[in-house]
Amino acid sequence: MPKTIIVSNRLPVKVTENNGSYELAQSEGGLATGLGSIYKEKDNLWIGWPGLDIVKKEDREKITADLKKLSLFPVYLSQEEISEYYEGFSNEVLWPVFHYYASTYANYKRSNWEFYVEVNKKFKNAVLSIAEPGDTIWVHDYQLMLLPDLIRREQPELSIGFFLHIPFPSYEMFRLIPWRSELLEGVLGSDLIGFHTYDDVRHFVNAATRILPVNSSANVLTKGDHTIVAEAFPIGIDDKKFASLPSEPDVKKNVKLIKDTFGNTKLVLSVDRLDYSKGILQRLQAFEYLLNHYPEAKEKITFYMIVVPSRDTVPQYAHLRDEIDKQVGNINALHRTMEWTPIQYFYRSFPIDMLSALYTAADVCLVTPMRDGMNLVSKEYVASRINDDGALVISEMAGASKELIDALIVNPNNTEEVAKTIIKAAYMPKAEQRARMEPMRQVVAKFNIAHWVKIFMDKLNEVKQMQRSLQTRYVGQVTQQSIINRYIKTRRRLIFLDYDGTLVDFKSNIEQASPDEELYELLLQLTEDPANHVVLISGRKHGNLDKWFGDYNMDLVAEHGSWIKKPKVAWHKLSGLSAQWKQEIRPIIETYIDRTPGSFIEEKTYSLAWHYRKAPKGLGELRAGELMNNLKYLANDRGLQLLPGDKVVEIKNVEVNKGKAALTILDNQDYDFILALGDDYTDEDVFKELPENSITIKIGNNVSAAKFYLTSPDEARSLLKSLAESTVVKTQ
Ligand code: UDP
Repeated sequence: MPKTIIVSNRLPVKVTENNGSYELAQSEGGLATGLGSIYKEKDNLWIGWPGLDIVKKEDREKITADLKKLSLFPVYLSQEEISEYYEGFSNEVLWPVFHYYASTYANYKRSNWEFYVEVNKKFKNAVLSIAEPGDTIWVHDYQLMLLPDLIRREQPELSIGFFLHIPFPSYEMFRLIPWRSELLEGVLGSDLIGFHTYDDVRHFVNAATRILPVNSSANVLTKGDHTIVAEAFPIGIDDKKFASLPSEPDVKKNVKLIKDTFGNTKLVLSVDRLDYSKGILQRLQAFEYLLNHYPEAKEKITFYMIVVPSRDTVPQYAHLRDEIDKQVGNINALHRTMEWTPIQYFYRSFPIDMLSALYTAADVCLVTPMRDGMNLVSKEYVASRINDDGALVISEMAGASKELIDALIVNPNNTEEVAKTIIKAAYMPKAEQRARMEPMRQVVAKFNIAHWVKIFMDKLNEVKQMQRSLQTRYVGQVTQQSIINRYIKTRRRLIFLDYDGTLVDFKSNIEQASPDEELYELLLQLTEDPANHVVLISGRKHGNLDKWFGDYNMDLVAEHGSWIKKPKVAWHKLSGLSAQWKQEIRPIIETYIDRTPGSFIEEKTYSLAWHYRKAPKGLGELRAGELMNNLKYLANDRGLQLLPGDKVVEIKNVEVNKGKAALTILDNQDYDFILALGDDYTDEDVFKELPENSITIKIGNNVSAAKFYLTSPDEARSLLKSLAESTVVKTQ
């Protein structure tokens, strides 16, 4: 029975030491609850570090046995490993860079990186000691970015998912990391990569395709023969728990206590871990601005600020804490009165029933991180508002702001705006509170933690199925042999070959993609066989094809079918078409050339092609989209077709297409073997037009009407060579 293994840096458990003996308690964080539906089932389990440096062998054995009862499996780490891999590389490189604090806090130490690699390998060994073929592995977060590929290298048949719980930065930021390629390679060992938001997906795909030789089509990435999907799965919370807590007697008691103490003021709540990404100092600045500029708030608003201790042995965090202490002290000293302290500041963690009471009692929840992957506090506040009241102010830099669109959304750097919004939130009319809170509660309830786990797992299965169906379309040995068998048995064969991207690799200079000796030899072999009718079918100009292949015993189709040449006969141009439209379209394309360095126009008989293969990456694609949009209606009106190709947009008469050209050549003749090879959009017309029993092969494994695919021109040539040689062998 296949099982699922969850892997994260920390196990969802608290290990405490009591006079030399260790005790375990399961921690009840949201993630642990959500994943509980998985790792506690059947043979499934969760692998991770138990959170303490346990040295003695007998202690480890006892803890391992105790953990086993909870479906947990430990990876023991030494103090040095924790300090280098976790505190060092994870928290002093990945955390700051991914939260856009690279210049202030990132520290690229080689030894940290080496430990990161080693500890990821340690996790890999733990996984492989348990995993069996068919199992699913779900790796969590930035501490284990190398793990998916380490696992795949040894057990490629496993299903591997990865989820990043922090934001993924833009390429500009990510590329600063000296080990950026290795990190990407590591994550790309997965089948499915999950992020909180679509922006993170975009950033990741961009970084991967710019840094590595990886292709992407929307959110599907191809690395060699491995297909990977990157997608947004915003994490949810255990909404029912937070919705039911306010009815608990203990929570009610706490709510009353809070109301008795602060009831005559509006209560503004914030809850964060101590971290520079949380914008705590900026928030204090905004609150101070509020006190200075909105005198009516005096004695009317109380800011209840909880900061949960975290990493405060690290100097940067200790410094942040000192700064917070100082600012809170200043503000309170300047503004407090006999009856009122503007900021109630707590540096400690709170039990869940007190947290729930605060969520219930607070008029406003203030969530203003500088950058946050998701932010669960905002969702917990919403889920706790069972009367659909209260107001949420959230930073647009928090992932949750993408879902909680009915909140008051602010830029945390804009002090005046934050202050104004706190006032607006504190005095929001009840009807507006309800109108905003109700839809947010629905979102939090629907997209809860169970939903998150389910859709991630469902998608992972779907990706595996997609890979399997791709695999069956791949011309592997078995398929190749059956094509050869058919080839040998047949006597009237028609073979359509596209040129660029099919027989030769794509080059940034069109002229450079000229045929090499090996290709000439191959075409000779194919065309020598009297049973073969070979057609080179290309978008290139006829002069070009004539120069290269004019003497060959094959049909040449140029410019997608505008020109056709039979062996030893002159070129024939498709008649009855007008190219008048070029006068109108050309000036439009020229405006794109003026704005896109490196791009140029190519004129053909019935088409104009705008090439951008030498334009800066990204800009060319952007302009191509603009150009297509710009010409959409005009093209339709003038009977033209827009063809987005590989680094080219071609505009041509709709009557001209490779599919029609192929049909003309086919012309009811009785072929018993039809093969077509092509790599781009224009070849799809050929694949679609050919009879059902034809063998159509796409070069590249993205979506296509072709029955099969190969990954490169090299593979295409090798298939053609095997075909050509198969009959030679037979006649010998
Ligand atoms: N939290 C906690 N103890 C506290 C205060 C908060 O466990 O004293 C929890 C809170 O309920 C939330 C989590 O800590 O689930 C904070 O998650 P969030 O996504 O807001 O921030 P992170 O710390 O993950 O960056």
